[in-house]
Parts: sequence; structure tokens; C-alpha cells
Amino acid sequence: MTSGSGKASDRDLLSGVLAGDRASLARAITLVESTREDHRQQACELLDGLPERPDSWRIGISGPPGAGKSTFLDAFGMELIDSGHRVAVLAVDPSSSLSGGSILGDKTRMERLAREPAAFIRPSPSAGNLGGVGRRTREAIRVCEAAGFDRIFVETVGVGQSEGLVRTMVDVFLLLLLPGSGDSLQGIKRGIMELADGLFINKADGESRSAAERTANDYGQALHLLPPATEGWSVPVGCISALEAQGLNQVLECLVAHRQHLETLGGGVERHRREQALDWLRTMVQDELLTRFWNRPGIRELLAELEHGILEQGLDPVRAADRLLSR
Ligand code: GDP
Repeated sequence: MTSGSGKASDRDLLSGVLAGDRASLARAITLVESTREDHRQQACELLDGLPERPDSWRIGISGPPGAGKSTFLDAFGMELIDSGHRVAVLAVDPSSSLSGGSILGDKTRMERLAREPAAFIRPSPSAGNLGGVGRRTREAIRVCEAAGFDRIFVETVGVGQSEGLVRTMVDVFLLLLLPGSGDSLQGIKRGIMELADGLFINKADGESRSAAERTANDYGQALHLLPPATEGWSVPVGCISALEAQGLNQVLECLVAHRQHLETLGGGVERHRREQALDWLRTMVQDELLTRFWNRPGIRELLAELEHGILEQGLDPVRAADRLLSR
């Protein structure tokens, strides 16, 4: 993406996206992912031109590494495509920006979807803090919708903080788990269960079938003790096999019923998205303020000095904070 590409090419980009042109879609996402100031400006203008798509489904999906998320997305995505939908998969994987390596992005994943013209797969934006990654993913969702993708999956690994963030940008949130009980065993963070609108135990096939059913039972009971992520919604728990494409209809039923449930809450998915937009307003202001603060000249040096003071000279942290903030 070159800078200063001018109004005409901005319009070309917008009309390319609206026409569903893949190259334009990829360029538009690169633009919204860019942290450069002039790109931000162009991105905002692009986003202003995008229509609302209340008919799209924004689906969050999380689960520990190895739970079968890509296998599931490949199988379920193909079913959606067969019934006439267009599927986008966006990954949120802050580990890739922290460690330089990615849990989600590297291996060959979703082989069938990857070859499908009606599917679009985008790995995680590769730089920035969680808030920044979140904002860009949220914008990428809108770009995909404008390009005609009506089933958008946002995938996370279920081990970090990104799930709470993803919950605020999707209509519904699914959790994929493995046979075998206990959050620690699953390697997922506590609290992630509370975000789920549907919980599915994958690999319920062959010898694992009965273990999967026991696990589903356990989680079903545990869920009774938690407040549902969506008011008044009772979270379904099911067993599936992504590999054998078994039980996927339960997932579809869950998604349809949840959407109908949002209608009963008043305002449906559109209201839900506007309320999420309110939260985003605050999140983005806070993020931006923090970024600006830490990027001010001299702040990091002063921080290092004050940290040294606290560790080595017993400097009072309240005083240290005052000094930083009064800069
Ligand atoms: P991810 O890390 O959550 O994306 O998991 P993958 O989709 O890459 O799956 C991890 C491994 O589990 C792969 O070897 C898959 O073939 C296998 N797998 C995924 N789904 C199933 C399933 O339903 N049954 C069985 N038996 N294996 C599965």
C-alpha cells in the first residue's frame, strides 16, 4: 500500500470492495490494519463508505490449540458455502505480535476453504497491542461484509485475553473444547467459559465418543452455575466431530436460535451491534490515550529511572506515578 494514493484510487478501492473484488478486499484490509497516520485517515474514509450489513453473522470461535478449530471451520464453512453463503475467517492472535510466531497462522489450515472462491481467510494482523489488533479486526469484519461475505468467523486460541475483546465485536461466541474435563486440562483461561453462547466438545468420534459425552455433561452442569453471556440465553452444549462432519447441524441450530433470541431482547442484532459500538468508543479512547502517553518523548526513560528508584532506593510508587503523569 503506497501512501498518498489520492482520492481517485480511494474511490477505486471502495468500489472494488463493494464489487467483491478479492484483490481490493485484501488491499482494503491491509489499509485498515496499517498503523501509519496517513493510512488511518484513508481507512476512516473507506470505512465511512461501507454499508451496514445487519444480515451478516459475526461469529467468534475460540478453543485451545488442537481442539480442532481449523478442521471445524473448514467443514462448517464448506457447509455454509454449499447453502449459498460466503465465508470469511479472521484470526486474532496477539501471540504473533508478542513472540513473532503465530499459533494460528503458520500451518496449512482450512485446506478446502483456502481453495474456495466463496471463502476468504485472513491471518492475524502482525503488529500492535491487543487493543490495536482488536480495532483492526473489527474494521476488517466490516470490509469483508461490504465485499459480500455474510458469515464472518473471528477465531482466537482461547489461551489469552483476546477472547473478551472478540466477544465485543461478534454477535455470538462459540467455544470448542476437547474430550476431558477441567479448564486447566483444556488449557483455556478461566472466565472464557462465561463468554460462550454455545459450547461444543469436538472429536466425539471413535474411542473418544463416550469421553466427549461425559465432558459435555460436566460442562453442561458447570454452566448452570455461571451467568449466561447473553441475557436470558441458555447455552447449549453438544458433541461434534469436525473431522467426520458429524453434529454440525447442532452448531447451526445454536447460531439460528441465538439470533432469534437477540430479537426477543429487543432490537435484535442491530441493537446489539450498536451497544457494542458504544463500548468500543470508550475502549478506543482509552487505548489511544495510553498509546499517546507512552509515546511521549522522555516518558519511557523517566519510567526506567523511576522503576530503578522504586527497586533500589525504595522510592514511593505514588510519587513516581505523580511524576510520570505530570509530564
Ligand atoms: P486447532 O489448533 O484448534 O485449529 O486444531 P486443528 O483443526 O488443527 O486440529 C488439530 C488436530 O486434531 C488435527 O490433527 C486434526 O486432524 C484433529 N482433529 C480435528 N477435529 C477432529 C475430530 O473431530 N476428530 C478427530 N478424531 N480429530 C480431529
